[in-house]
Amino acid sequence: MNKEDFPILNQKINGRQLIYLDNSATTQKPKQVIEAMNRYYEQYNANVHRGIHQLSLRATVAYEHAHEIVAQFIGAKFEEVIFTTGTTEGLNLLAYSLGKDLQPGDEIVLSEMEHHSNIVPWQRLAREKNLKLRYIPLTAEYRLDLNAAAEIITRKTKIVSVTQMSNVLGTINPVEELAGLAHARGALLLVDAAQAVPHLPINVKGLDCDFLVFSGHKLCGPTGIGVLYGKKELLEKMEPFLSGGDMIKEVTFEHSTWNDLPWKFEAGTPNIAGAIGLAAAVEYLQTIGMENIAQQGRELTRYALEKLSTVPNIQLLGPATAEDRGPIFSFIVEEMHPHDVGELLDSEGIAVRGGHHCAMPLHHKLGLVGSTRASFYFYNTREDIDALVEALQKLWKEEMEITIDRNEISSTALSEEQELYKENILDHYKNPRHKGELAIYSVKHREFNPLCGDDVMMYLHFNNGTISNASFTGQGCVLSQATASLLTEHIQSMPAKKVKSLTREEVLSLLGIPVSPTRIRCVLLPLKTVQRGIEQHETGN
Ligand code: PMP
Repeated sequence: MNKEDFPILNQKINGRQLIYLDNSATTQKPKQVIEAMNRYYEQYNANVHRGIHQLSLRATVAYEHAHEIVAQFIGAKFEEVIFTTGTTEGLNLLAYSLGKDLQPGDEIVLSEMEHHSNIVPWQRLAREKNLKLRYIPLTAEYRLDLNAAAEIITRKTKIVSVTQMSNVLGTINPVEELAGLAHARGALLLVDAAQAVPHLPINVKGLDCDFLVFSGHKLCGPTGIGVLYGKKELLEKMEPFLSGGDMIKEVTFEHSTWNDLPWKFEAGTPNIAGAIGLAAAVEYLQTIGMENIAQQGRELTRYALEKLSTVPNIQLLGPATAEDRGPIFSFIVEEMHPHDVGELLDSEGIAVRGGHHCAMPLHHKLGLVGSTRASFYFYNTREDIDALVEALQKLWKEEMEITIDRNEISSTALSEEQELYKENILDHYKNPRHKGELAIYSVKHREFNPLCGDDVMMYLHFNNGTISNASFTGQGCVLSQATASLLTEHIQSMPAKKVKSLTREEVLSLLGIPVSPTRIRCVLLPLKTVQRGIEQHETGN
């Protein structure tokens, strides 16, 4: 639907037509949004609320109009829509401002499928104020266990904060029901709607949530702009988060009073171009119709579920049926690291994401370090799903195995010498040297790449300042594992001082092939682990 509005989609990646399936991370921008932002910069760029000249007046009108458009889009009042930098800032604002009224022993209820941005601010608040965090568990069908929720949400609960659509599982949570449960116990209901607002018609009054946050960039808008909705009577009572210009009514040397809503929560020069872009995105979505977008999402979901279930050796996460589920599909390819799956799909022109998707606790709960995620938006088609399924099926054709493994390492054209290096990397991956715990070691040190879940533990044994033995354990992508193997071989009998000064270039030269910027971290993880291990040994920490 409307693919022609997205100039970026009309390009080839690795010689193939780009198929963009990373929409849960960020969506593409239609030319209507790009043009609206360009118009602002080309014709009326000025600061808002402060000038009386024509450009500033035009910018102010456009900025305030953007609030109106967004308010109407989610069924809120003008004063109830605050522009933030995104979902993350919205949740931090809420943790800060609502946290002021909480007392030791109060409880905050989250769910096991939350994004880090709906966990970490609450953890910090809980530590600071001695609060208790409780989590609504998942059922075997990857839905929230509402019976457990009814027990976990008690009179001690002050805040319930849940995602409306999981960015990993695609599960759509029953927000109205949770609002009922929370309100019956005197708690507030906060909704992380980062994934829901792009896909579903949202009416905050219908949901009866107290607060709802989302990001503009996930619904065809620009990055750096997001929305916090709050019930007016609650926002009025709350302390502002940031302070400075624009959020005040009156300032003396002694004290200040706060501006009216929504400006009370918008300190400093706002993201004017972002707001204009967001408004253009909302208007663009409204011309398509949110019901139509939701309908297209449901159709793609049904089709993807049907097709992906035919791929051997993949395990789909998330509800198996299309009911109450969005077009976000995370999966595990047996015996393959998500990073490697992502790179292989990229070589076919298919953009997906591999890692924990900012939901580490959820992945740990499922016994996983990460997953591969294909997430769709209305400009995706059934053909995109067919291409994904075909590429995944190809991964598992036995005769392809060697080619695939070799492509995991590097899919670019290589010289004859580099091809030999590539064989060597593959050999180190398949037959790692020095893998396993050392019986006797001086120090062990673990490093972890939070982006993709690569995990390396190094065991080092020293003798007179020399590494007399080194080994590693852990799991990760082909590059991180092969480098750990190559490196442990390389540093045997090397003075620790020399190992400490090994550079990234030296490690890359062990591999002997070009490594893409996104994979450099995979290669450098074993080096960092060894060097920090030596430091740890030296300092005794
Ligand atoms: N919550 C959910 C459910 C998300 O998917 C995301 C983005 N991945 C966020 C919060 C954070 O959004 P942002 O990075 O735009 O602040």
